[in-house]
Amino acid sequence: MITTTEALESVLAAMPLFSSESIPAAAATGRVLRQTIRAERDQPPFDRVMMDGIAFSWSDFDGGLRQFPVQAAQAAGDHTLRLDSGHCIEIMTGASLPENADCIVPVEHIQITDGKAEIESSYEVKIRRFIHPRGSDFAQGAHLLQPGKRVSPMDIAIIASCGETDVNVTIDPVIRVVSTGNELVPSGQAVEAHQIRLSNGPALIALLVSHGYRRCQHDHIVDDIDVLRERLAEHLDQASVVVISGGVSMGRADYVPQVLTELGVEVIFHGISQRPGRPMWFGKGPKDQVVFALPGNPVSALICCRQYVIPALGKASGARETPPEIASLASNFSFKPKLTCLQPVKLISSAAGQLLALPVETNTSGDFASLSATDGYIELARDQTDFPSGTPALLHRWNMHP
Ligand code: AMP
Ligand code: MG
Repeated sequence: MITTTEALESVLAAMPLFSSESIPAAAATGRVLRQTIRAERDQPPFDRVMMDGIAFSWSDFDGGLRQFPVQAAQAAGDHTLRLDSGHCIEIMTGASLPENADCIVPVEHIQITDGKAEIESSYEVKIRRFIHPRGSDFAQGAHLLQPGKRVSPMDIAIIASCGETDVNVTIDPVIRVVSTGNELVPSGQAVEAHQIRLSNGPALIALLVSHGYRRCQHDHIVDDIDVLRERLAEHLDQASVVVISGGVSMGRADYVPQVLTELGVEVIFHGISQRPGRPMWFGKGPKDQVVFALPGNPVSALICCRQYVIPALGKASGARETPPEIASLASNFSFKPKLTCLQPVKLISSAAGQLLALPVETNTSGDFASLSATDGYIELARDQTDFPSGTPALLHRWNMHP
């Protein structure tokens, strides 16, 4: 059986590169940029005044002038005025610096009487103080955002500042999420004593949506080989990504691998030396569709989705890789099987600011209720059984960090 690392490598290697599209910039949060965003102008585009007050010339002040007749007022958005020698201009935050002016004194340190502004005698005037020089943040043409950047709200400010109305981003792929099992009953329908509620489909979709993939459609398929064949054929026809839960283990009704093979989906692996999620199946269809068949147990399904599906979609979207995150075990932990342990954890920070991962016991891989208290899971090496408190481990948060 392959390792978690090998499984992830082969999943990533099998992913196509999704196409791109132009969308309104306002709708781009969470999407992956496929273009460079270049500065439209210098930032700030002019010497920008940073205080409400008066603007005057250093040479007048240096020559001994302390009382400045107010020539005019200039607010943010007003045309740039030209300062006359021996005068001052009343100035507002955000205004462009008047021509010939190079000193700003804030309003708190001046007094205006009879049209003349007088500077407080104790105030230390400094040339060019409170002036945000043109181009000091960035120059026109600077590459502010590169392809592969997932657009954050901060990036929206950059895109808007460059005057862009539309941006080129990766398409939001259509993802079909399939829950298999005769025993499953969705919310809103009567459930009998021997049945269970269908929870994987909604949870997997919510996880995908939280990572920016919004075009997910759900289907519930019973454990009937003919129905499964017909419905999966349709999903493979309609979507480039299919995520299935259940039906991949060794049970008599676990038809998913067989049906996928019949439909021309080539198996890349079946089984990973990890717990939970050992039975996971992954393959590639005749039209390059990728098929993730996750075990039905709710904890396994969610962990396999976060571990393999989310990074795979990031790769196919052209997203820049995020650096791995490490947390230290907050308590001693032991895990006997010779499998990589994917252990759900709650994150806490130590008084010294260290990120600590506190293992949260799940009763079985069906115990999804305990996952609510977790922030993600850590990966513990398969060739080790005892992990002392403080052991560093690879952390995977349920939700992306920026
Ligand atoms: P399976 O992988 O199909 O053998 O399912 C393993 C376990 O997970 C069984 O107890 C199923 O009832 C349960 N299960 C499978 N799919 C779901 C689902 N969509 N929602 C909740 N539980 C599920
Ligand atoms: Mg099943």
